Amino acid sequence: MEDCIFCKIIDGELPSENVFENDTIIAFKDINPQATHHLLIVPKKHISTINDLNENEGDDALVGKMTLVAKNLAREINLSGYKLQFNVGKSAGQVVFHIHMHLLSKG
Ligand code: 5GP
Ligand code: ZN
Repeated sequence: MEDCIFCKIIDGELPSENVFENDTIIAFKDINPQATHHLLIVPKKHISTINDLNENEGDDALVGKMTLVAKNLAREINLSGYKLQFNVGKSAGQVVFHIHMHLLSKG
């Protein structure tokens, strides 16, 4: 997807501090962290918002995998607790229109 900052990160055209990558998902540190630990879990497939998820294209499984990546990262970093958040739409604060799950934690 042209002009999508996260697609450029996925394609290696922009730098990122990756903490996880497999064939469908990448996770990296947020450039402007809002907590001690602030990671973004991002599908490699370009989907603009949660409203664009399509269960007929396997997006239900994809979002499930994103949640499991978050769980595994939290365990690796040894977090005692954490928040998972999707911002959906401009009015809810979504700035990057390629879906991503925020993982936020104090530690
Ligand atoms: P949103 O508000 O769309 O849910 O969150 C977008 C997040 O992406 C923000 O927390 C912002 O700091 C982060 N972000 C924006 N551009 C970049 C970038 O180029 N690299 C990284 N690592 N994070 C970014
Ligand atoms: Zn994209």
